[in-house]
Amino acid sequence: MSAYLPVELRQLLLEADDHRCAYCQTGEFNSGYPTVVDHIIPLSKGGPTSFENLCFACHRCNQFKGAITEMEDLLTGEIVPLFHPRQQRWKEHFAWDAASIRILGLTAIGRVTVIALRLNNEVIVNARQNWVSAGWHPPAA
Ligand SMILES: [Zn+2]
Repeated sequence: MSAYLPVELRQLLLEADDHRCAYCQTGEFNSGYPTVVDHIIPLSKGGPTSFENLCFACHRCNQFKGAITEMEDLLTGEIVPLFHPRQQRWKEHFAWDAASIRILGLTAIGRVTVIALRLNNEVIVNARQNWVSAGWHPPAA
């Protein structure tokens, strides 16, 4: 969900997320769309509008995430929280496949987030294939 942010808070987020989606790592320079402000714990579930609960996200991830905060891990049947970009590190929960086209969930948190936010949806996978063909490599988050 997008929200009005004080300039200082927006600047902190820009420095932290570097114009990229904190979930799928798609940059504004790749998508051509500005990122949106995502409440990691949604406003509707009491999440505050503070740096600790905000990140930049691409439109797709923001939309797919909606008010979801957790999901069943199909491997274990356990209910697992989604990735929290301010409390967790991306590369501890995700990795790129060898072709740098698909995001792999390394942990239960990574696995449920890949599914919930459809981090390997057909549109983004096609786009990543084009970027990689053109010499782009995903950032080491
Ligand atoms: Zn994204």
